[in-house]
Amino acid sequence: MKAAFFRKHGGPEKIEFGELPDPFPGPGTVRVKVKAGALNHLDIFVRNGMPGIPVVLPHVMGSDGAGVVESTGQGVAGVKPGDEVVLNPGINCGECEYCRAGEHSLCVSFRILGEHVPGTFAEYVVAPAANVYPKPAGLSWEEAAAFPLTFLTAWRMLVTKARVRPGESLLIIGIGGGVAVAALQIAKLLGMTVYVTSGTPEKLARAKALGADEGIDHARTDFAGEIRKRTGKRGVDVVLDSVGKATWKQSIASAAKGGRLITCGATTGPDPQTDLTRIFWNQLTVFGSTMGTHGEFAGMLKIFGDGKLKPAVDTVLPLSRAREAVEILEGKRQFGKVVLRVD
Ligand SMILES: [Zn+2]
Repeated sequence: MKAAFFRKHGGPEKIEFGELPDPFPGPGTVRVKVKAGALNHLDIFVRNGMPGIPVVLPHVMGSDGAGVVESTGQGVAGVKPGDEVVLNPGINCGECEYCRAGEHSLCVSFRILGEHVPGTFAEYVVAPAANVYPKPAGLSWEEAAAFPLTFLTAWRMLVTKARVRPGESLLIIGIGGGVAVAALQIAKLLGMTVYVTSGTPEKLARAKALGADEGIDHARTDFAGEIRKRTGKRGVDVVLDSVGKATWKQSIASAAKGGRLITCGATTGPDPQTDLTRIFWNQLTVFGSTMGTHGEFAGMLKIFGDGKLKPAVDTVLPLSRAREAVEILEGKRQFGKVVLRVD
């Protein structure tokens, strides 16, 4: 099969496009003919190499994908060849105490498609049958590939962790990345007032077009000061910060009394300065969150059901241009998802 993969860890120049053996669906898994795959920052981390997370080389990248079930392994029920599906990239064991409690993304052997196992940037991908869900009818293949990882992540953070309510205010740091844009779209659907920050005026304009109420240029202003000014000194109910080191202290200073902060990543570094005084005096809550459960995936999927909401797709390129697609992401030039069309 044709695939985008790397044989050695390193920069984007390590990405190759070529032939690899077709994967075989083992017991409980399905083989999906991929129609489209979407990029995530995870693809960059995996290619660069992460300490303690060995991958089998050559490694096929890609956590997000949508396609048609082509064959099924032994013991698969409820999924059949010809089904049009999207893939939930979080793979759990089903047996540990967290899986039994329904907390699949806390699984002690939690794995992610395209990170621990071969991914979707290929003609075929093999995944557990439990990880395929019906493709929302109103979405194109590119749109269907664009939402799983980021919308699942944003859904768990806002709905399950922060338990947001209509009328509450949300600040999203660094709009443009996949999770941030998904959070904006979900938050507007849930009736929140949304503030976004970016160092790029064009991204602020695109966020407003997607429904953001206020944009703050974080390259030119201290965004915490700006939030205080724009909220009558109150601050916002919820802050979503996956930027990390560069912004965390200001994020703490942006939260209202009793506010919630959520992190699902730290693209500028995992060891920020913090502010314990504000955390205890203002009685803030900090949530960590990773991906989501099967129940959350199924719940999130419903928001695409009526075809009104579509994930923001920035660029679509053919699979053969995977390296170029990754370079768009590495240059932070995108707003929303960069997608690879596979056939
Ligand atoms: Zn488990």
